[in-house]
Amino acid sequence: MTEAQKQGQLIVISGPSGVGKGTLIEELQKRRDDLCFSVSYTTRAPRENEVDGKHYFFVTQREFQCRVEQGDFLEYAGYADNAYGTSRSQVEAMLDRGQTVILDIETKGAMQVRERRPDATLIYILPPSYAELKARLYGRKTEDEASIRKRLAQAKKDLPYISKYDFVVVNCQVALAVNELNEILCAVGRKSCYMQDVIQQYNRSFEEAEATGRTQQAQ
Ligand code: 5GP
Repeated sequence: MTEAQKQGQLIVISGPSGVGKGTLIEELQKRRDDLCFSVSYTTRAPRENEVDGKHYFFVTQREFQCRVEQGDFLEYAGYADNAYGTSRSQVEAMLDRGQTVILDIETKGAMQVRERRPDATLIYILPPSYAELKARLYGRKTEDEASIRKRLAQAKKDLPYISKYDFVVVNCQVALAVNELNEILCAVGRKSCYMQDVIQQYNRSFEEAEATGRTQQAQ
């Protein structure tokens, strides 16, 4: 396998709204330069600090539906009255460049990725407890009461899916959780399927040694 053919890893990160996935991903990106964040499409209105094209591509319901019909999404799902989807072409282009692609998506979408991309690694981020999750959601002051209730109800609906993920990380302290995520990414990167270039280089070193040996014998 040549460098050009080397495929990147697909990493799915899920967890209840308010658990701190965004912060963890940002911190992880500061540590590793091979990470690419897939920017999703959503019909949700932007929050005050959110930038179109950076945090999400904010689109109308009609545009979202058009993309669904054109098969543009690797996965898509509804969440708390809004639709969210991952661009298939964006993800494939990044994987083809050998980059590690992070998807921050909810559980229904994650299960679709599991079906369509069995090579993906699924990580679920847990808060230390329900009470802590509730405190974080109220504390960040980005949602109104009704939206917070919907997000907490959604967190409950996620419970049966957590065991379907490959890894679970508890976000008690950001620095510790980032360490754990980094360790997981390092371990996944050592799977033999991602180490083909190293394995082939090792194979070549044998061939070279054997060829040199034959030359020496001939002298
Ligand atoms: P928020 O509105 O708080 O940014 O995101 C709400 C939920 O939607 C989060 O759980 C987030 O992980 C999820 N989400 C964001 N983008 C996508 C996407 O492209 N697909 C799916 N299925 N979920 C997404």
